[in-house]
Amino acid sequence: MRRIYEPLAYDTPANCWWRDTTPPADQPQLDGDHRTEAVVIGGGFTGLNAALALARSDVKVTVIDAEQPGWGASGRNGGFCCLGGSKLGGGLMARRFDQDQRSQWHKTERAAVDHVDALLSENGIDADRHSNGETLLAHTPRAMRDMLASTDEAKATYGVTPEIIPAEQLRQRGLGGAFHGGVTLPIGFALNPAKYHAGLAHTAQGQGARLFGQTPAQSITRTGRTWRVTTPSGVITADTVILATNGYSSEDVPDWLRARYVPVQSSIIVTRPITEGEQARQGWTSLQMCYDSRILLHYFRLMPDGRFLFGMRGGLRATPRAEAALSHKIRADFHALFPAWRDVEVTHDWSGLLCLMRRLTPFAGPVPDHPGLFAAMGYHGNGVAMGSYLGARLADAVLGRSPRGPVPAFIAAPPKRFPFGASRRALLAPAYTAAALLDR
Ligand SMILES: Cc1cc2nc3c(=O)[nH]c(=O)nc-3n(C[C@H](O)[C@H](O)[C@H](O)COP(=O)(O)OP(=O)(O)OC[C@H]3O[C@@H](n4cnc5c(N)ncnc54)[C@H](O)[C@@H]3O)c2cc1C
Repeated sequence: MRRIYEPLAYDTPANCWWRDTTPPADQPQLDGDHRTEAVVIGGGFTGLNAALALARSDVKVTVIDAEQPGWGASGRNGGFCCLGGSKLGGGLMARRFDQDQRSQWHKTERAAVDHVDALLSENGIDADRHSNGETLLAHTPRAMRDMLASTDEAKATYGVTPEIIPAEQLRQRGLGGAFHGGVTLPIGFALNPAKYHAGLAHTAQGQGARLFGQTPAQSITRTGRTWRVTTPSGVITADTVILATNGYSSEDVPDWLRARYVPVQSSIIVTRPITEGEQARQGWTSLQMCYDSRILLHYFRLMPDGRFLFGMRGGLRATPRAEAALSHKIRADFHALFPAWRDVEVTHDWSGLLCLMRRLTPFAGPVPDHPGLFAAMGYHGNGVAMGSYLGARLADAVLGRSPRGPVPAFIAAPPKRFPFGASRRALLAPAYTAAALLDR
């Protein structure tokens, strides 16, 4: 596998809170040759949702993960099950897509949240849910004015009434920090991603999906009417291959993927449980999941056990030096927004890779000129809901049936390549610098 970050980006996180709550299940390594109808490469939310939907339709499906299912972003994200999945702002989206496509997209966002909601409740998955929708907090007075100006649009787009929280009410609502007001959209909820993943894996296995760990796909080749997926200890022959590798994709598995995605690091810290007295001192007692209005946004939430999760963009490089700088930066930002918690110990910190696409919209569909090869990826940091949903919709495409839920046609448009080949993450540096200036 040829990947574009330094090896550190592909290490197992040593100190991820979710792993303490739900130790990853060790799936066996695939050994020997194996025949199946569909093989899914990557055992995160995308891959498992595709596998579950296929297994429910009586397709013999095998999921392989280079590490363990859930090892990637799905086992280490912030647990915001929310709207999103594209980085196209409203203006750009309007220029690129007609009203019907835009409306389909917003229905898709909503359907993605409902999809996870239903998965959890129908399969009895206890994933420590909390938060009634998601609250956007203004980092400047001007940002608050902009947010107020766009509430009508949010109402028209999602059919719900956003709740405005003026600056002077934030503290009494348990949202006291360095913010200038907020707006809550009552769609979405927070969850423990490792518990969701474990429940999903169990459900998929219950339907007959076979899961393997420590089984990297080293090559994918077409022989006659079937695919051969080579792994270190065996070959899988299948009619269909699904790529669900997202930010952990490689340039050569298969070659088609080269330069069609950019992995981006995101980082999280989690504190020890914050006492009620400490919460009161900061004025933050709410279990609402929140993010701020910066372009390089922070995302955060008090969890049901009193621990606080705080996340932001990660470093541009994955070297010990870059990680040390990022570790300093994330703590500094946390303390600036929540000064009363300056002395609260951070017990866990980790990073992971999410995935951007050149068109700034996700891809889910057949890979052109590769009959029987499908892929879904590129949720721009919002893949808990969208990755889950598009994984299931990709299964519809594999089965040749019409999608069981909204999906705009542009989702299946094959992703374009980025310029600069394996050096393409250099494109992020000027983008981050410009965003940091605009965020002031
Ligand atoms: C720190 C962080 C915080 C985030 N927070 C949020 C959030 O709060 N809300 C939200 O909606 N989204 C969030 N995201 C994004 C979200 O986690 C991802 O979009 C989503 O989990 C992607 O799921 P996936 O299954 O497509 O990919 P992943 O979960 O990344 O899984 C890909 C898998 O592919 C495997 N793989 C790669 N290559 C091979 C190969 N050749 N053979 C076999 N296996 C292979 C990897 O081992 C990996 O397990 C966050 C991401 C990060 C990193």
